[in-house]
Amino acid sequence: MVEGKFIYFNGHFVEWDKAKIHILSHVIQYGSGVFEGIRAYETKLGTAIFRAYDHYKRLKESMKMYRMETSETIEDYINITKELLIKNGLKSAYIRPVVYRGFGPISPNPLHAPIETAIAAFEMPNLFNEKVEKGINVCVSSYRRFAPDTIPAVAKATGNYLNSQLAMMEAELNGFDEAVMLDVYGYISEGPGENIFLVKDGALYTPSLTNSILKGITRDSIIKIAGLLNIPVFEQNLPREMLYAADEVFFCGTAAEITPIVSVDRIPVGDGSVGKITRMLIEKFREIVHEGKDPFGWLEFVEAE
Ligand code: PMP
Repeated sequence: MVEGKFIYFNGHFVEWDKAKIHILSHVIQYGSGVFEGIRAYETKLGTAIFRAYDHYKRLKESMKMYRMETSETIEDYINITKELLIKNGLKSAYIRPVVYRGFGPISPNPLHAPIETAIAAFEMPNLFNEKVEKGINVCVSSYRRFAPDTIPAVAKATGNYLNSQLAMMEAELNGFDEAVMLDVYGYISEGPGENIFLVKDGALYTPSLTNSILKGITRDSIIKIAGLLNIPVFEQNLPREMLYAADEVFFCGTAAEITPIVSVDRIPVGDGSVGKITRMLIEKFREIVHEGKDPFGWLEFVEAE
């Protein structure tokens, strides 16, 4: 991560070091924040935010589930983000909006703590750096994703990531690049910060919303790109063993983009190299975000031509 110059902080652009909150803020004590991870890409046609509207729509939905309201509309958020990128002189960026509960009464009840907003933007490479090219080695985590009717998996909330942290620490300390988590019923769910796809006999399989997943925007993009390429996609319960029987497996997410998985629990996926369909999807995705060939209208250009 490369530090930026300015952060949008409660209505103003402040210097990077000045975006600070009180130690007793509700979000620090009780994890009461919702956030997004968005990328802006330097395309051949200029800098563009990838699916800005959909990301801020999801932010608004996460806020609604936690009874949080701000005066900004989705369009306001998009405009603020564009201004932030320009102010920071960023041609490509990882963008991190967070809406959280600030300093208020010391009680888990969040209703009486103020709601605050920050948006930061900075340079950040792929989550797995250069490993993204050759693929990563993962394990199935001993930690399950949270059960339905406990913590909403579809809300992108800061507190959710304690569950992710347990899985990530376990994976790294056991020598893996990342973990795959199962849901409470033992079906494949997702990574700690990524959705997952399997390829079997030319079709794509991915867990459904009932498997405690975040409704990933990259996941949705892949489903739509697969449609364009005439690759069938099934969203369904997937038993753990499908990971070992699959021809190809990959993670996807804003930070991870499309990251091939070449082994699960030290069992090679397919022949242990990056698969054909994964490559096709990566190429198509890169064509959109780097060359600006965007048949879906996903690119929100920062500056009009
Ligand atoms: N699942 C989890 C738990 C995540 O944190 C992320 C990253 N936001 C994803 C999936 C992928 O979502 P997206 O493609 O919208 O970044």
